[in-house]
Amino acid sequence: MTQDTHSLHDLTVAQLAAQLRTRQVSAVEVAQHFLARAQAQASLGAFLAIDEEATLTQARQADQRIAAGTAGALEGVPIGHKDIFVDQAFASTAGSRMLEGYRSPFDATVVARLAQQGAVTLGKLNCDEFAMGSSNENSAFAPVHNPWDSQRIPGGSSGGSAAAVAARLVPAATGTDTGGSIRQPASFCGITGIKPTYGRASRYGMIAFASSLDQAGPMARTAEDCALLLSAMCGPDPDRDSTSLDTPAEDFSRSLQNSLKGLRIGIPTEFFGEGLASDVRAAVDAALKQYEQLGAQLVPISLPRTELSIPVYYIIAPAEASSNLSRFDGVKFGHRADKYTDLVDMYKKTRAEGFGDEVKRRIMIGTYVLSHGYYDAYYLQAQKIRRMIADDFQQAFKSCDVIAGPVAPTVAWKLGEKSADPVANYLADIFTLPASLAGLPGMSVPAGFGQDGMPVGLQLIGNYLQEARLLNMAHQLQQATDFHTRKPRGV
Ligand code: GLN
Repeated sequence: MTQDTHSLHDLTVAQLAAQLRTRQVSAVEVAQHFLARAQAQASLGAFLAIDEEATLTQARQADQRIAAGTAGALEGVPIGHKDIFVDQAFASTAGSRMLEGYRSPFDATVVARLAQQGAVTLGKLNCDEFAMGSSNENSAFAPVHNPWDSQRIPGGSSGGSAAAVAARLVPAATGTDTGGSIRQPASFCGITGIKPTYGRASRYGMIAFASSLDQAGPMARTAEDCALLLSAMCGPDPDRDSTSLDTPAEDFSRSLQNSLKGLRIGIPTEFFGEGLASDVRAAVDAALKQYEQLGAQLVPISLPRTELSIPVYYIIAPAEASSNLSRFDGVKFGHRADKYTDLVDMYKKTRAEGFGDEVKRRIMIGTYVLSHGYYDAYYLQAQKIRRMIADDFQQAFKSCDVIAGPVAPTVAWKLGEKSADPVANYLADIFTLPASLAGLPGMSVPAGFGQDGMPVGLQLIGNYLQEARLLNMAHQLQQATDFHTRKPRGV
């Protein structure tokens, strides 16, 4: 063994995979190193489940495949999974008491595909309950702290994933993004994350929040690593997810080196209004200048219905959630109330005990907007505007190749600062919701630091199936800047 195991956590996925393949370090050593880090940093709140034996068993199998010369692209690389993905080896809770201790009889497609490439599961990562939230404070189990400042939120709902990667407890993690839950925590924790086009990654085994919006994606320190993971995660899954696209798996690493000369980057006026904090704006502007130096050209564009994306999303997502969550009634999955008088009482008590406040709020909103008499006024209207928002993007893409702007209006806020005010949380989603509603791929790339040294992400939005271009752009920025290499103090 030539690798100094003390600094394994500083290696990227690409570097780690290369060292494992050439047997400079074993998968078991790598797993032990990261398990020790994850356990030492338990106060961060990033992990909901760790099972040393399960991880080490997978690592031993990885070492056997490396020895046999049958290693996959990610052989022996430890990965944390957002606890919204079901996994046979670990309990899957979706951050909810409703599913406390729940064991799935099967693996999510995304988990299985990463495992096929040799990834080793290091554990399950904390998240907002059923992925509803922007701060991870809606987790039923524990808040997650931002590694850059433990008094601040890591973002949400994939807050455990972002914090674990930023604190180097895992080289990469999975996340899901319904309205920004990969991009926003990536931005708040100074890492890289990509949500692919809706339908690129199978939703099979992803505990459903809003099915027409939910997408899985990778979170890692570099665009190069995200490309490696995304290549493994995507691909058709027609028998298990009817909305999975019939687009073949793709090697997203192939165009990382492409030149950006002549690339037209659309800058939506609506993303740079008065709601945008000046520190975020400064970092985003600097990143855009960097792109100009790399040969790209900035083109002003308009996404006129940006503001409407908030009411539209907060009608459609709760509507779908109210339907998806009806399966949690105490009969088939997870929690069932101890004492009840009859079946209806059992349903009521189970759901009252099992769901947290934000989930209940959304079930009520969703049930209301779908109810007879209000359906046309809210749900149907929201669907029509959703279509217009998607059309606005197509109009914009006539004059640009990609769109860039901030991920969120501010840097990560303080724990507790907005927890009593759900609407304040909803408003902070303004820049991520439009691409989600349109089903477009979106990405967050570290673009510098704002107030109190907190990270700022640049959002890149591509047209359908343009993930390779987004990753190429992010990689080129990372060749010219070093924000993605900076570490929080003490890491
Ligand atoms: N913050 C948004 C919400 O609360 C988005 C969450 C997500 O993408 N899962 O719904």
